[in-house]
Amino acid sequence: MKRIETEAIVIGGGATGAGTLRDLSLRGVRAVLIEKSDIASGTTGRNHGLLHSGTRYAVNDLESARECIRENKILKKIARHCIEDTGGLFVTLPEDDPSYHGKLIEHCKYAGIRCEEVSVQEALRIEPNLNPNILAALRVPDGTIDPFRLTSANVLDAQERGATVLTHTGVSGIIREGDRAIGVRCRDRRTGVELEVFGGIIVNASGVWGQEICASAGIALRMFPSKGSMVIIDYRINNVVVNRCRVPSDGDIIVPGDTVSLIGTTSKKVEYDKIDEITVDEDEIATLLESGEKLIPNVSRTRVLRAYCGVRPLIAVSGEMDGREISRGIVLIDHERRDSVGGLITIAGGKLMTYRLMAEMAADLACAKLKVRKKCRTQKTALPGSERKLDQAKSVKFFTGIPNSVVGSTLYRHGQRIRNILHREKRNYGLICECEMVTEGEIEYALKKLNVKDIVDLRRRTRIGMGPCQGQLCAYRAAGLFVKYDSATSAESNKMLVDFLEERWKGIKPVLWGDALREVEFCYWIYQGLFGLGDVRFPEEGEDR
Ligand SMILES: Cc1cc2nc3c(=O)[nH]c(=O)nc-3n(C[C@H](O)[C@H](O)[C@H](O)COP(=O)(O)OP(=O)(O)OC[C@H]3O[C@@H](n4cnc5c(N)ncnc54)[C@H](O)[C@@H]3O)c2cc1C
Repeated sequence: MKRIETEAIVIGGGATGAGTLRDLSLRGVRAVLIEKSDIASGTTGRNHGLLHSGTRYAVNDLESARECIRENKILKKIARHCIEDTGGLFVTLPEDDPSYHGKLIEHCKYAGIRCEEVSVQEALRIEPNLNPNILAALRVPDGTIDPFRLTSANVLDAQERGATVLTHTGVSGIIREGDRAIGVRCRDRRTGVELEVFGGIIVNASGVWGQEICASAGIALRMFPSKGSMVIIDYRINNVVVNRCRVPSDGDIIVPGDTVSLIGTTSKKVEYDKIDEITVDEDEIATLLESGEKLIPNVSRTRVLRAYCGVRPLIAVSGEMDGREISRGIVLIDHERRDSVGGLITIAGGKLMTYRLMAEMAADLACAKLKVRKKCRTQKTALPGSERKLDQAKSVKFFTGIPNSVVGSTLYRHGQRIRNILHREKRNYGLICECEMVTEGEIEYALKKLNVKDIVDLRRRTRIGMGPCQGQLCAYRAAGLFVKYDSATSAESNKMLVDFLEERWKGIKPVLWGDALREVEFCYWIYQGLFGLGDVRFPEEGEDR
């Protein structure tokens, strides 16, 4: 049994846990983050990536709306390379209640959100693919945020300041000594090694799984899991976030992100014991496509790439409520006060875009318990890669000889860290993923610096396999690079390839018709027909690799 001693333990490598780890590290607190899978593999990697202006919540939840607009302004400064400041539109369709438009303007005023009325003509100029029959439009400071980049940048910064990160390591229980939580028991899921980590404070940032963590400490906490599904279409049909101007409901947001657009979302209650088995239902896909087409008619002419879903980590306050009625506000629990169990706090609820604020609240309480007096610095300290404004023209000049498109994509994904990635040696900028312009140099950097253990993790750091071909022509090249850079044996890399294709398949299966079906047949032909991947025998545990 391995044993680690530290000051603070953070359970969960979603945006909230990663943000808390970074905040603590900036205050000089030694901390260990434990994540059962990969960073951003929970709800953080399963949402729209909408950098809310708060407008969506302004009528029903003024407090959330105010939090959103405050954090929106902070993140645009400290996380530049994770954000696209696209702006957003709220549009009224002929079947929508026209009075909601005026109500939204009024409530945005209370929340401090700049919400500007624009003519239909102007809205169509901003977003030419919009339904031309809209009746009214509002322009708001919505944007998009890449959850993978954001979480990874928080983890990277914390590690550079001395934090320890254990991914693919699940916490199986809280260790208690009398009325105090003093550590956690965990297991590395890849090697099977068991370990115990001890610390003065444990921050439970495990999202919807927080209920299980609390239960292992003998504490009752009831989550109210609400599933939301989304579909991704094969190209970017909009350049600004398009929202429907009505009481929040199914299928009323279309968000552009990198090379694609996505339509979201739905809200369905799920039983707690089913949260790890959720899948996208046929009726959800039909609703999303139908509603999306009302906002942007071109949706009907696109190819659906994949569908996925996530579970909102909402904490139940009372009775049986619909997922949209329950508070999405931030919940910080001091278990010493609530349950008489010292050494443990839970941070949950909120949103991706309020992760920094949630982390600040959790770190403030953790530091108070540890008697550390340092103040939060995350409002002003830029994430690695976002230190200065991105200047594409200067970067292109600096990397003369490397294709502009490669420089542009690397800069877009890694900001100033581009200098740690690109250099003029030809091998470095050779393309591995053509859809997303991912180079060998970017993969080498991710393998060495960004806690990548397999190709699925690599996808989250670089977008490899996220574009229109969904990993057909890049996955096997990436598998080879794991071996080249000593990150896996050849048998392990073959196994990774199979796991990656299986993982991609989960998202494609619900949308298997038309071009998506043809693409899958082609992919099957490459990997089974040409490479014979289905016939590869993988070594059993203990066998020589
Ligand atoms: C459909 C949908 C759409 C959304 N859209 C948006 C949006 O557009 N904008 C926005 O701001 N917010 C959005 N949200 C909300 C947002 O995604 C979440 O609030 C946020 O990502 C939660 O982050 P988290 O870090 O708290 O939780 P998570 O990301 O779930 O992180 C918890 C982590 O804990 C890990 N974990 C669990 N158990 C253990 C264990 N035993 N040991 C170790 N690790 C463990 C999990 O693997 C997971 O990685 C959306 C949510 C949903 C469901």
